[in-house]
Amino acid sequence: MERRASVRLDTEVRFLKGVGDKRAQILAKLELYTLQDLLYHLPRRYEDRSQFRRIAHARPGEAATFAGKLITVDNITPRRGLTLTKAFLDDGSGALELVWYNQPYLKDRLLKLRNRRIVVYGVVKDTGWGLQMETPEWEDLEENDSMDGLLHTNRIVPIYPLTEGIGQKQMRQILWNAIQYADLVPEILPREVRERVGLMPVADAIRQVHFPDRMDLITPARQRLVFEEFFVMQLGIGIKRQQIAQERGIAMRIDEDRLMEKIRQIVPFELTNAQKRVIREIWDDMRRPHPMNRLLQGDVGSGKTIVAGAAILAAVDNQYQAAIMAPTEILAEQHYMVLHRLFQPLGITVELLVGRLTPRQRAQAYERIASGRGMVAVGTHALIQEGVNFARLGLAIVDEQHRFGVLQRAALRDKGIAPHLLVMTATPIPRTLTLSLYGDLDVSIIDETPPGRKPVKTYWKFPEDRLKVYEGVRKLVAQGRQAYIICPLIEESEKLQVRAAEDLYEHLRKDVFPDLRVGLLHGRMKPAEKEAVMEAFRAGEIDVLVSTTVIEVGVDVPNAVAMIIEDAERFGLAQLHQLRGRVGRGEHQSYCVLIADPKTDEGKARMEIMTRTNNGFLIAEEDLRIRGPGEIYGTRQSGMPSFRVADLVKDMHLLEVARQEAFRLLERDPDLNLPQHQRLKEAVDRFRHKVVVATVG
Ligand code: ADP
Ligand code: MG
Repeated sequence: MERRASVRLDTEVRFLKGVGDKRAQILAKLELYTLQDLLYHLPRRYEDRSQFRRIAHARPGEAATFAGKLITVDNITPRRGLTLTKAFLDDGSGALELVWYNQPYLKDRLLKLRNRRIVVYGVVKDTGWGLQMETPEWEDLEENDSMDGLLHTNRIVPIYPLTEGIGQKQMRQILWNAIQYADLVPEILPREVRERVGLMPVADAIRQVHFPDRMDLITPARQRLVFEEFFVMQLGIGIKRQQIAQERGIAMRIDEDRLMEKIRQIVPFELTNAQKRVIREIWDDMRRPHPMNRLLQGDVGSGKTIVAGAAILAAVDNQYQAAIMAPTEILAEQHYMVLHRLFQPLGITVELLVGRLTPRQRAQAYERIASGRGMVAVGTHALIQEGVNFARLGLAIVDEQHRFGVLQRAALRDKGIAPHLLVMTATPIPRTLTLSLYGDLDVSIIDETPPGRKPVKTYWKFPEDRLKVYEGVRKLVAQGRQAYIICPLIEESEKLQVRAAEDLYEHLRKDVFPDLRVGLLHGRMKPAEKEAVMEAFRAGEIDVLVSTTVIEVGVDVPNAVAMIIEDAERFGLAQLHQLRGRVGRGEHQSYCVLIADPKTDEGKARMEIMTRTNNGFLIAEEDLRIRGPGEIYGTRQSGMPSFRVADLVKDMHLLEVARQEAFRLLERDPDLNLPQHQRLKEAVDRFRHKVVVATVG
């Protein structure tokens, strides 16, 4: 071990004992490049091989560890292509037959151990002729100085994620060598935090998480490592919040009673208590001399648009402009229509900025926005183009946030001088994700739907029942209602997707509903065509709208009461929930029918969850559990931090604790300038750098 003195955490694995160049290449496939990477390559699971069982007391079907003398080793070939290596283990209480398949070379190795004590681990079975263990893990007891030195048996044994070219035993040996350097990992958690939360020192955690002394030490060891990751992340978020809070912003004057009265005049319904509450939260922020930085969450149909309207009204009342950015043209146009109608009586002008404008229209809109005559701008990402200049942007709103990256959020904000920012999401987000993705935002939640809504009734039907489903649609149309039929999702190509939509449309129009007015909407249509179709649907001139998922977000036609989703098993939960959210928006009973014949358990689970609940938060949590955060949010583009150890689903509780502790620490040492926090500060800087890079990449 002559290199031992010079080993550091960033030492490449190939220089470590037992690795070398060839194995280093294999480890690279697991993204293990340095000693540090190895130390954080955690076991997938563990096997408790610490208790020896006597062979006489072996229980067939159970995995157990036995120690005894190895006797009678031999190879036999019962048929061509099959070689069995057989041996017996004798522990004085009985004999256990050991069998390996097609590893004839084992014979010589085992012969050398004959009459020596070895330890074996595996599942025992009763063959009728006697007890047998197939392909046991084994280890020479006498080669090791003492029982303490055993790595693969006689202890709680880690089982690692592997890749081709490396076996469990080799990996375990490499990790065993690696954890001899566990003390190199610096302790960055302040002592008081560790004591208050009850966390073990980091080096102990590393050792125990790999080679635990007891089963009940595994969880605390792992939690210690998870906590550190969350703690560092939350410190980064906390520091960012402080920076935003110190920024100078626009303190607006807001007379609540007067503005609420104005809203009452222009809105045809009574606001829900939840809407009133979040409007007050937003207005409170806008009064402060610092920029608002708030996330508005509300399930589909909870009425977020009017809340945005109230925020806009306050900004305009203060002679500031407001901008609202939506992810699709359809949605931008819809916001435009709603806000235009709402604000017209008050003489507030609303501008629309989308890709389909002619150069002339665009130039005019730019001019009105730049001069300040256009008080409200609604648009897609066309809003954050270079040519767009606001005279006095005081409020930036981003709708359906998870479609935009963190950078686009920042780009819209940068169109003004420290404007207030409101981010709205329609997809409910489980709290762990909120704390990691939007931890720098304050959160308002609309947890109440407008009165008189009947929950959407959801059914799962097999393709054979399709005609019956269509009959149901026909009945609803006869009652004056409208329906959506969503065509199968084809991810391979947009062209095929369009073809599928056109085929379904032709079929429904000609064969199924020749007497009804059927419309078609898909992503390849020109924006003006799309808008014409949506307008006709809103006006009730189309009975059945065949569509791709372009109508997924935000579309609001209260008279549409049926949502039929073809091949529903191809859609994710969040998407199904969004689609279902298009109905159930008026006073009529609405229905969602999932036509699906899922082949996988996961697919079936998704259909069942949809029929069981309308609650978007529950669905989001199930989705997170089934798919994991990376799948849902696309780690890179969303700016989602990636963790080495932590799991946002399993470790939800620890995240809350880490957040509290992080914010508590920042109260005492806001910039982490105390000498005892220097290593922590470095870790936080590294983390923030990583997230920024991930967002840009
Ligand atoms: P989302 O939160 O999904 O964006 P919207 O803002 O589109 O929801 O609102 C959904 C529908 O509910 C719209 O038709 C809207 O006019 C209506 N709505 C919103 N708030 C109320 C309310 N308090 N009472 C009755 N209808 C409401
Ligand atoms: Mg909406």
